[in-house]
Amino acid sequence: MLANALDMVAALPLPALLIRDDERIVAANDPARALLGQGIEGRHFITALRQPGLLDAIEGCLKDGAPRRTEYLTNDGQQDTTYRVMLGAVALDRGRAVLVSFEDVTPLEQVGQMRRDFVANVSHELRTPLTAVMGFIETLRGPARNDPVGQERFLSIMQSEAARMNRLIGDLLSLSRVESEERVRPTDRVDPAELVRSTLRGLQGLAETAGVTLVADLPETPFTITGDADQLRQVLTNLVENGIKYGGKGASVTVTLSPPGIQPRLRTEGVTLTVADTGPGIAAYHLPRLTERFYRVDSHRSREQGGTGLGLAIVKHIVGRHRGRLRIDSVPGQGTTFTVSLPVG
Ligand code: ADP
Repeated sequence: MLANALDMVAALPLPALLIRDDERIVAANDPARALLGQGIEGRHFITALRQPGLLDAIEGCLKDGAPRRTEYLTNDGQQDTTYRVMLGAVALDRGRAVLVSFEDVTPLEQVGQMRRDFVANVSHELRTPLTAVMGFIETLRGPARNDPVGQERFLSIMQSEAARMNRLIGDLLSLSRVESEERVRPTDRVDPAELVRSTLRGLQGLAETAGVTLVADLPETPFTITGDADQLRQVLTNLVENGIKYGGKGASVTVTLSPPGIQPRLRTEGVTLTVADTGPGIAAYHLPRLTERFYRVDSHRSREQGGTGLGLAIVKHIVGRHRGRLRIDSVPGQGTTFTVSLPVG
């Protein structure tokens, strides 16, 4: 009977151990040895496991045979790892043993943490403009009741704060739409050069107001790629708008489209779309985190420019849905270049 139990422990894919009622570990499979150390077999479980929650659960289970679950926390040298530990009694010919199995739930924990961070971020982003609007409503009803000049000024601030909330909600909805479609491949035929021309036309007014020059460098022969036209327009809009917003007066934003050709980064035929600005650039250590939601290099400047912190996260998801690649290069003081490689087919 014990031999069968030992074989079963060895066959389990998760780390698993068997502890007999003499409190010794009588079996441990390879994953358990990798987790808890070679040579744990034969040892008293207290010296091998050492975490009070788990030790209590094993003692309890050895005593009454009732199943239990607990947690085991370790650090693999790089990150904290959380295991969900399940305990169940196994009847042996003579006495009882406890089967202890470990399931790595770190990814689940991380998803949970990301969700909590996201909700906290969104709440914070909405609360700031909302607090401003509520404050101005009070002012309009009280001290500014008979002050038409003040009223006009407060209403205009309220309008821009409401517009900020509206942009944030718009970006959140876009992000959730893009995420929900991420596994659905786009099917439209899109003329990317035409998309660049019409997007730049739409942003010309914004660029003029900011004193930024927009330049397009497009191939002469028209061609199409498979994509989602609205989403690709959003990629271009977000990137060019950032170039305008952060570029500053006197900067230029150049959009370049390459004709179809083999793209080493995609290992297939594709095109590259680059959006390069001559703005202040971004320090290298920010680059890896730039596409995270709500990550900003300079929060104050982003908010002042009406940024939501979601533009590049949206770009990254859209490019991912198109099986493309996004690359960001920047030299502080010289400018930033966003390169989007997209497969043709
Ligand atoms: P935001 O709404 O804040 O612009 P994004 O996700 O579009 O959010 O961009 C994230 C951050 O990356 C911005 O807050 C800004 O600090 C930085 N950034 C994006 N594009 C540029 C650019 N062209 N030049 C300099 N910084 C940029």
